[in-house]
Amino acid sequence: MSTAIIWLRRDLRLVDHAALAAACAAHERVLPVYIHAPQEEAPWAPGAASQWWLHHSLEALSGALLQRGGRLHLAAGDSLSELSRLIAQSGASALYWTRCYEPVLVARDTRIKAQLRERGIVVQSYPGNVWLEPWQISRAPGQAYRMFSPFWNKLRAQLAPQRPLPEPRPRVWAKLPGSVSLSALGLAPRIPWAKGLAHTWHPGEAGARARLKRFGERALGDYAAGRERPADAGGSQLSPHLHFGEITPRQILHGLRKRAERRGEGTHAGLEAYLRELGWREFGCHLLHHFPRTCEQNFNPRFDAFRWAEADDRVLGRWQRGLTGVPLVDAGMRELWSTGWMHNRVRMIVASFLTKNLRLHWHHGARWFWDTLVDADLANNTLNWQWVAGCGADAAPYFRVFNPHTQAARFDPEARYLKRWLPELAGLQARLLLEPWRDPAALRRCGYPSPMIDPKASRLAALEAFTALPD
Ligand SMILES: Cc1cc2nc3c(=O)[nH]c(=O)nc-3n(C[C@H](O)[C@H](O)[C@H](O)COP(=O)(O)OP(=O)(O)OC[C@H]3O[C@@H](n4cnc5c(N)ncnc54)[C@H](O)[C@@H]3O)c2cc1C
Repeated sequence: MSTAIIWLRRDLRLVDHAALAAACAAHERVLPVYIHAPQEEAPWAPGAASQWWLHHSLEALSGALLQRGGRLHLAAGDSLSELSRLIAQSGASALYWTRCYEPVLVARDTRIKAQLRERGIVVQSYPGNVWLEPWQISRAPGQAYRMFSPFWNKLRAQLAPQRPLPEPRPRVWAKLPGSVSLSALGLAPRIPWAKGLAHTWHPGEAGARARLKRFGERALGDYAAGRERPADAGGSQLSPHLHFGEITPRQILHGLRKRAERRGEGTHAGLEAYLRELGWREFGCHLLHHFPRTCEQNFNPRFDAFRWAEADDRVLGRWQRGLTGVPLVDAGMRELWSTGWMHNRVRMIVASFLTKNLRLHWHHGARWFWDTLVDADLANNTLNWQWVAGCGADAAPYFRVFNPHTQAARFDPEARYLKRWLPELAGLQARLLLEPWRDPAALRRCGYPSPMIDPKASRLAALEAFTALPD
């Protein structure tokens, strides 16, 4: 009986899993393995919120495998050593995995593939959790896209609905003694705010499917407008599920299209707008693959000479804890702290406030998001921070500084979002939260801080620093 190992990484599911399906088709015995090796992702090892998610996602996958008579084998340490040990212990002749696209993981996987193949092991990798792999789409042969719209037009034209692969069944789920316990990986206890996360999320494949269903039923129709209102659940909130590979873009496309067809809707504005957002996710992956240094370096080198403000822990701390005295910024940062997630528009506003009004380097924001977001994703986080800061690919121009008050009036006109996340101000009239300068003393009486910065003056200072940049 031939044995294969399926090395699970960012593909924590059983359905629509090409690598698992191939392993089950070609081998009688399949051993599912997860190796905890955060050191191999340095300097972007998973942050605290991601670790919490990972713990629960592994727990869910273990449970699903147990129900099917299998067992997820957990290991920790150097991936190549652990795989070599498990290959020797199980007598496996083949190893399967789903590709990741982060530059350090590509380098690691390439090395592991070469070394194991040299030892006569069959190593097969399969496309990662995207519609198209980053090298399958190009502007001209060998040329990466730098602008979203042409990238999206090309990708959209190639988006053929495909049926997701059904869950495969191996003849035998192989098992080995000596699995490390999940708690020994030390993922969950590190997080002080786990209660809020547990209240908000249901990590794992079943949780992802439930969210997709709910989104299709309740929000897709109004998505184009609904996604802009932070007080409503207008988006899918599938981002952490996508990051951990608990659901695939193919499943999402298929599920939503089928639903629209059943209702006789065909494609509609909501579905198109939603697919386009998933297109941004693909664009992030494309950019990180082709410009691997951009998680540290400005995409636009002109910004290398920009005069960022001196980082000050006190200033940064007020932004991180939602104590800036600017209601929409504070509401967003507190939503992040409480739930591990923040609404997309509010992410743009808090990022603009940090990089433009406070003029702090986008690295500070990207790092904080990395530690606190349950959907922290190197490609998406890098793309978006650089986009807001103005130094990224196809970025918002630096001189476009979001005004948090105007944005709140436009997208949260009844201050429902503000009141939800700033409970100390919930008793005030909505107008006062939207225009706090009308009666600053009323906000102070509620224990709310005075604004740490004047948005207008700081905007002008940012524009001056930008103008000083050499062409
Ligand atoms: C400063 C900043 C940092 C961000 N960091 C991350 C991050 O680390 N991880 C992450 O997944 N998203 C990040 N985003 C993008 C976006 O905010 C989230 O993907 C979105 O809020 C997730 O909510 P949702 O699943 O309801 O999205 P929906 O509106 O339901 O969109 C569907 C999916 O499309 C993708 N998507 C949507 N918007 C974007 C976008 N702007 N860029 C890339 N993909 C997108 C996500 O996978 C999302 O789940 C960031 C945005 C900003 C402004």
